[in-house]
Amino acid sequence: MKNKFDPATALQKIEQFGEFGGVNPSITDSATYTFLHENVMIDAFQGEAEGCFLYSRHWNPSNKYLADALANMEGTEAAWVTASGMAAITTAILQICNTGDHIITSVTTYGGTFAFLHNYVKKFNIEVSFVNISDHEGIKKAIKPNTKVIYTESMTNPMLQVSDIPAISKIAHEHGIKVLVDNTFTPMILSPFKLGADIVVYSMTKFINGKNDCVAGAICASEEFINDISNVNDGTAMLLGPVLDPLRSSSILKNLGTLHIRMVQHGKNAMFLAKKFKEIGLKCNYPGISEHPQHELMNSMMNEGFGYSGIIAIDLETAERATPFMELMQEKGVGYHAVSLGYFKTLFSNSGRSTSSEVPIETQKEMGLSPGLIRFSVGLDHDIERTFELIRSCLEELGYL
Ligand code: PLP
Repeated sequence: MKNKFDPATALQKIEQFGEFGGVNPSITDSATYTFLHENVMIDAFQGEAEGCFLYSRHWNPSNKYLADALANMEGTEAAWVTASGMAAITTAILQICNTGDHIITSVTTYGGTFAFLHNYVKKFNIEVSFVNISDHEGIKKAIKPNTKVIYTESMTNPMLQVSDIPAISKIAHEHGIKVLVDNTFTPMILSPFKLGADIVVYSMTKFINGKNDCVAGAICASEEFINDISNVNDGTAMLLGPVLDPLRSSSILKNLGTLHIRMVQHGKNAMFLAKKFKEIGLKCNYPGISEHPQHELMNSMMNEGFGYSGIIAIDLETAERATPFMELMQEKGVGYHAVSLGYFKTLFSNSGRSTSSEVPIETQKEMGLSPGLIRFSVGLDHDIERTFELIRSCLEELGYL
């Protein structure tokens, strides 16, 4: 049965006028806010002055517009916007976990997240179990009395493993554990909160902004959780201060309005390339094709009409074969040899040597991350056939076909 949630229409329903009737909300770039009455300021510090802005590290109107739009899109009560995706991930985790707690995470995550969970949280005596997120018995076995979070990416980076969010949430909730999902690869396509997760995080640097002109992130969750992270006394966001700049919020908000159209085009182009890659015999991983092990799972969870996202992985087996291919693709104008994703131009990089280089080689091997894996973030190319012909010509020139 298809998921009935429509994040694009949910987003469209929100109306945010500027204070002078501008069709874009006015930008408020003040660090602090004036109060006419001392009592209201006191109430604001106690979290009891509804609609008042205190100080921009806490909240500011431009961030609130973007946060409200994101909450609509995710179907959550609230959201908070951060200065990077890593800020969203680390803030959410550190808000939930205390020293001595335990986290279960998918072993396949973005390399920065892996490094945070593998190397950093140790200093707070937080223990982490790395699991194959498709192995639900393994998840159950990893649960301990002090487990507070199950962490995963809806579509993992770079293995494109699709997490069964309803099943994982059911396991977690039976044990009072929170489910935290990074939905960076699949905005609009998957709605993790609607599928049962408690908290959704984003690197908005990627598809949501889509312009590669800034880093930014978001946390979408219940009103209670967002109030907790921004609490002046003990809120992780308020006290560690990873707030997004309001000028950026206002530019991201404008880009959010075209996200649904961009996701469709990214997905259309990626599907075209995945099919062509398969035809010419490349080892290709894309959740949109029936050979993908979680293709049916993806179909069962996805919102209708936004495609399967723009990320494809191909495996050239060795880094020595991947390197000249990527260099040649850049030379011929396929796109850029660069990390990151969700841009209107095609980007590609060798994951094992770049965005997953934080993952020890042994762990890369265990999770099946080939040294020759090239992750493509397929752009919004109008003529994707031309792009494919360029890629094919690179493969031919190097004698790979
Ligand atoms: N989550 C995923 C899936 C990512 O790919 C990335 C960055 O590549 C991040 C989070 C971190 O986001 P940022 O670079 O905005 O901090």
